Amino acid sequence: MNASERSRSVKLWAQELGFMFCGISVARKLDEEEKHLETWLNKGYQGRMQYLERHADVRLDPRLLLPGAKSVISLALNYFPKEAQRADAPKIARYAYGRDYHKVLKKKLKALLQHIQETFGTVQGRVFADSAPIMERKWAELSGLGWIGKNGLLLTKNVGSYFFLAEIITDLELEADGPVKDYCGTCTACIDACPTQAILDHKTLDAGRCISYLTIELKDAIPTAFKGNMQNWMFGCDICQEVCPWNRFSKPHQEPDFEPHPELLSMDKEAWEDITEEVFQRVLGTSAVKRTGYLGLKRNLIFLREDRQETMASPEE
Ligand code: SF4
Ligand code: SF4
Repeated sequence: MNASERSRSVKLWAQELGFMFCGISVARKLDEEEKHLETWLNKGYQGRMQYLERHADVRLDPRLLLPGAKSVISLALNYFPKEAQRADAPKIARYAYGRDYHKVLKKKLKALLQHIQETFGTVQGRVFADSAPIMERKWAELSGLGWIGKNGLLLTKNVGSYFFLAEIITDLELEADGPVKDYCGTCTACIDACPTQAILDHKTLDAGRCISYLTIELKDAIPTAFKGNMQNWMFGCDICQEVCPWNRFSKPHQEPDFEPHPELLSMDKEAWEDITEEVFQRVLGTSAVKRTGYLGLKRNLIFLREDRQETMASPEE
């Protein structure tokens, strides 16, 4: 089999495993990203996520993750849910409704790599699901899955942006795909809608201002400067996806593991405010929300409640 035939086979197996898209790039150093990464870090846009400052060399060159790497296989798995939470409930980002995506993705990635190894012989490969310093959106863009939008997310014309990205880095030579056009055009809906002004020009995100960071990554108290801006998000934020016109084309996922616990959809504002650790474990214990933990979620809920009370106490502000 030549590289082109091998690529076709890999894409077919990826589809059989439930991945929505699969694209391939030549493994190389992302020289064009070096300056941008350095500037982003120097401006402190990573907030307190110090781990983003480490391994910049590895982040830019996948061959440092797998010596002899020749190809980066980028994959996308849809997570767009059929139903959303109740309108009055504090909100959880859609990606965290079901089972923790790391586990779901890893299982599929390992199955795909095993298939590759069984078919093509001695092939080295490593699988990554948001688990290593990799510029996954850049690789997905280079592999033709879509384009990086002004909100910093990977967008597609067919299904918008509600999907996970994952990668296999391998020393198998495959035929590379090319990037697609950027279809953001003159739209600025995500920039205009972001309640914390986290989306800057040139597809740059000030991650330290993003509600996802404030509700998940930040271990200290949420700064009071963000009062009035959280728009009822208690874990993550989907606003810049909700307003993106390309997400009109999102289609519900077919992944049983991403189905939410029924209570997640039925819990109202009071039920969330009164959530006990037992309910947390039952409803969210296997979801990505466990990253913030019960106490982290309570912290966020208290912040939202105090914010609401203060707004009600001073309605003219
Ligand atoms: S996720 Fe929310 S807070 Fe973060 S950039 Fe998007 S709209 Fe802004
Ligand atoms: S909302 Fe508009 S500018 Fe933002 S990512 Fe979507 S298409 Fe691009």
